[in-house]
Parts: sequence; C-alpha cells; structure tokens
Amino acid sequence: MIPAMLKLNHFEVFLISYNFTMDPATDALIEKARKAGVGVIAMKALAGGVKPTVRSYKVPEEMLNRLNREGAAVATLKWVLKNRYIDTVIPSIVDMDQLDQDMKAMSSPFTAAEGKLLAARLEYMRPYYCRMCGSCDGQCPQGLPVADMLRFLMYAESYGQFSLGRENFQLLPKEVSQVRCTACPTCSVQCPNGVEIAGRLGRAQELFG
Ligand code: SF4
Ligand code: SF4
Repeated sequence: MIPAMLKLNHFEVFLISYNFTMDPATDALIEKARKAGVGVIAMKALAGGVKPTVRSYKVPEEMLNRLNREGAAVATLKWVLKNRYIDTVIPSIVDMDQLDQDMKAMSSPFTAAEGKLLAARLEYMRPYYCRMCGSCDGQCPQGLPVADMLRFLMYAESYGQFSLGRENFQLLPKEVSQVRCTACPTCSVQCPNGVEIAGRLGRAQELFG
C-alpha cells in the first residue's frame, strides 16, 4: 500500500498501523516515505493491548494481567517511538494513568529488557491478535469478513468500547451476522499469524449477536 501511495505523489501524511507485531519490512517502507517528504503517523501502536482501565466490558482477568504486565504498554509505545522516521503516535488517552504511560514512553529510551518483554507478549497474543494482513480475505465459505469481525472484538476486549464493537457488528448484513462459527465442523480459514479464527469469531458472535 505505501509504495502505491508514494507513486501517486499526492499525500502529505500517511496514517499507518505500526507496532511491534509488524513485518520488519514495514520499517524500510516508512523510511522511504519519510525520505520522500511524507509525514508518518502511527496508529494501532498498542497492538490491541488491553488498557489498564477497561470500563464497559470485563476482560478475562488472566488476559488482563498478562497483557498489562508492569511496563508492557510503555514498552509498546517506546518500540514505536524508537523508529526515527515516525513523526508521531496517536494512542487514545482516556484517563490520567494512560497519560502517565504516554509521558513515560516519551521520556526514556527503549531497553533490551523491554525487547524481551515484547517478544514474550507477542507469543502470548498470537491466537488473539489480528495483524490485519488481509491473507484470509474471502476464505470463509459463509462470507464472514474475518479481519473486520476481529477488529470489532478488539474494540470490546482491548479498547473497552463494547458499544462500538456491537454497533459495527450489527451493521453487518443479516446473512453474515447470523452465521455461527460453532455450526462449522472445521474452520476453513487459515491465518498465517496463528489467530484462532473460529474461536475468536465465535466469541464476537456470542458477545454481539
Ligand atoms: S490472516 Fe490472520 S492476521 Fe491476517 S487478517 Fe486474517 S486473521 Fe488477521
Ligand atoms: S468457522 Fe466461522 S470463519 Fe471458519 S469457515 Fe466456519 S463460519 Fe467461516
């Protein structure tokens, strides 16, 4: 996408998903964009990380504890900021704790210990976290928009915005929103990044359907 947009020579700023789960090849594209004079803003910087304050939806406690291990959110933001070709990052801030995390991320460099923390976190997140790579597009024989539905689930589980997830789910066409993954004997959608598609979509259907 970035090379195609650069070719158009039309944009002053790119808003891109960028976090520690990304393919390392993304870094070279970001550098190329920046050197071409395009500003680069990182979104999805927390990689769907569960925020410390989750108000409207109860995240399973074990998941909350593991994803929010001491310093995980700060390390995640620092990872993004260590790329000197990123102009800014736009995590949402819903309370003073999150503002505090953001200030910490800006005021000290990324460390080797934080690198280890993120590597462990990546392994833990694998079955849950969709990198929105698009490889599964069109694979579900029932026509489910897999990445979109995983994003709706992320709104509820990771951002604490249950209503936003449900609103998006309810905008799906009926023939899609009424599908239940539990009715499939096996899931034919393959995720190269290890997301447990049937289980995660089943969770979205259970929550929002
Ligand atoms: S293939 Fe996996 S990571 Fe890629 S969009 Fe689909 S679910 Fe997400
Ligand atoms: S389990 Fe769900 S995602 Fe997988 S093939 Fe069936 S309906 Fe599609």
